[in-house]
Amino acid sequence: MNKSDSERIATFLERINLKPTKKMSEANLILVNMCSVRQSAVDRVHGLAPKLKKLKTKDSKLKTVLTGCVLKKDRGKLAKEFDSVLDIKDLSRWPKLFRTMRARQKTKKYFEIPPKYQTRFSAFVPIMTGCNNFCTYCVVPYTRGREVSRPAREIIQEMKNLIRKDYKEIWLLGQNVNSYKDRKINFPKLLKMINDIKGNFWIRFTSPHPKDFSDELIRVMAKCQKVTPYLNLPAQSGDDEILKKMNRPYTIKHYQNLIKKIRTAFRKYRKGLEKDISISTDIIVGFPGETKKQFESTVKLLKKIKYDMAYIAKYSPRTDTAAAKLKDDVSPQEKEGRYKILTEILKETALENNKKYLKKEAAVLIDTFKNNFYFGKTRSYKTVKISMLNSKRQILNTSLTGQFIKIKIIAISSWGLKGEFVK
Ligand code: SAH
Ligand code: SF4
Repeated sequence: MNKSDSERIATFLERINLKPTKKMSEANLILVNMCSVRQSAVDRVHGLAPKLKKLKTKDSKLKTVLTGCVLKKDRGKLAKEFDSVLDIKDLSRWPKLFRTMRARQKTKKYFEIPPKYQTRFSAFVPIMTGCNNFCTYCVVPYTRGREVSRPAREIIQEMKNLIRKDYKEIWLLGQNVNSYKDRKINFPKLLKMINDIKGNFWIRFTSPHPKDFSDELIRVMAKCQKVTPYLNLPAQSGDDEILKKMNRPYTIKHYQNLIKKIRTAFRKYRKGLEKDISISTDIIVGFPGETKKQFESTVKLLKKIKYDMAYIAKYSPRTDTAAAKLKDDVSPQEKEGRYKILTEILKETALENNKKYLKKEAAVLIDTFKNNFYFGKTRSYKTVKISMLNSKRQILNTSLTGQFIKIKIIAISSWGLKGEFVK
């Protein structure tokens, strides 16, 4: 979501005739788009203050602006470190706020500001913002406000434009993407409408909430062949008591049943490697009061589901949230230990899952060329490293970035695959 915001901010800055610089020291304006989900991210922004101060003493005209998810309690201190703090929700009103830069731009709603996509082949398309769920640990409902869905007509228009420009991968974004609703169009219907657009492209989405994962969505996802066989379904914990304390309104039984139904649907409607959908999750370790036994339930969940990937976070209290009132009583060492245990399990399950790729061919969307290697992602969101050197150690070709290429997988590890071009 923040990356998508940055793409809209970039458009705005270009419209007021600003150009990006490579070095901070060359800038006339430094705009920081911050995230408050974890304390470490907030600390990084505070950590910038001395550098900004130094740059400002060298260049008195330098302006510094802070935006993104800024918590009320951080705002006061950060307002002293930056020239201004602007609300991302007000991006459409920024032209007025930037009056000193003589911006002459018509006021538009946030979604009407076209993003400056970071690549020419992969794009983020936010379909809703905000969140109504108030998980007790999370700041998002406070920083982003309530859920607002974007009109389906606008989304389809943006999609069609992207596909006309030959975009290959499109990410539908929302804090709670599957609670999308524009009158009669819910998320599965929107997915189907997008899947029906002619063209050769992949559809990805993030993040869905288990409580809104309907049977209709499972069926549509599995049937729509442009929707990639990859799903991030945040569990957050494997323990029902902790889930309750987190205000996540589902049980682990329900969650496991969902995964089972999703896997069955993919086996029914997909062919080859796609029959096995790749699944990742988000987990928080060390939520207030999480006992060793409750953590063991999360261990069990990871072993049972056999995830391809897990984004594991150590709990950090965020002000304003309900959990901030609870004692953060799991020690940092214990959190670190739990994090390591889960990472070890993940390493094993991911490796096990990756074995099916060995010696198989898969389509890869190439995204990077670095040190004589191409890197890309499979439809199942596995990173593939591909050597570009021929037997004479010459680089064969350097213009494949942004293309779908058929690759043969020649080696695997827990965190990725190695491949070679199929002649
Ligand atoms: N909407 C998504 C997640 C958005 S926040 C969902 O419902 O899952 C991204 C991730 O950050 C969360 O999944 C969670 O694992 C992590 N996170 C959020 N608040 C946190 C906190 N206070 N401490 C540690 N991790 C947190
Ligand atoms: Fe945060 Fe929960 Fe909303 Fe996700 S669903 S953004 S974790 S409050």
